[in-house]
Amino acid sequence: EVSIGILALQGAFAEHQASLNRLNSSRKLNVILVRTLDDLNQCDALIIPGGESTTIALLARLAGLFEPLKEFMKTKPIWGTCAGAILLSQSVVGAKKGGQELLGGLSIKIARNGWGSQVESFEAPLDLNGLEESTRPFQALFIRAPVVLELQSSSDSPITVVARIPLSLLPPSLIEENMTEDDPRTIVALRQGRHLLTTFHPELTEDDRFHEYFVHKCVLIQ
Ligand code: GLN
Repeated sequence: EVSIGILALQGAFAEHQASLNRLNSSRKLNVILVRTLDDLNQCDALIIPGGESTTIALLARLAGLFEPLKEFMKTKPIWGTCAGAILLSQSVVGAKKGGQELLGGLSIKIARNGWGSQVESFEAPLDLNGLEESTRPFQALFIRAPVVLELQSSSDSPITVVARIPLSLLPPSLIEENMTEDDPRTIVALRQGRHLLTTFHPELTEDDRFHEYFVHKCVLIQ
């Protein structure tokens, strides 16, 4: 049995729970909604959902979970979606006044609400790398999503790009002259070590391939 936690302080945790419950795993999955240190201590891996990153950080601090989460990340896999992705980043631009606490851990720089305020939410088919049935595009839902700005050099494990949004589908506010398909801003899913980051919301669609990827390729590996 393997225990996957979902940080359940704010945001789309119930949807992640539903996705994990749909998965057919070779090992029994024990899904834990994490609100206390006791909950966290039972987990082999953790998902931080989308929602509002400043609020999640604040509530984690109040629950006494902030430093334990940083420690957790040193040895166990974490997957951050949208707001969760912001929290896993090393640095953020566009944070609220007064700043924003980050767990860090992934060597990327990210822009909060980086698709521009005129683009509240949109859907886009993604090119996938390394997922099951990767020839079938993943229809991704972006909601006030962050944008990956830079991959920063790190002494830790290298970053692998898992999915990009096609350049032609980038919102006009992000398009710049001479941008290429491999611009970091096209990266919407990546992994570093056993951690996963997605700037969109795989838990809000019925396609569970990212949940499967996290469980089978990040958590249940030797
Ligand atoms: N814009 C939100 C934030 O900065 C994230 C949005 C989301 O998770 N859907 O926290």
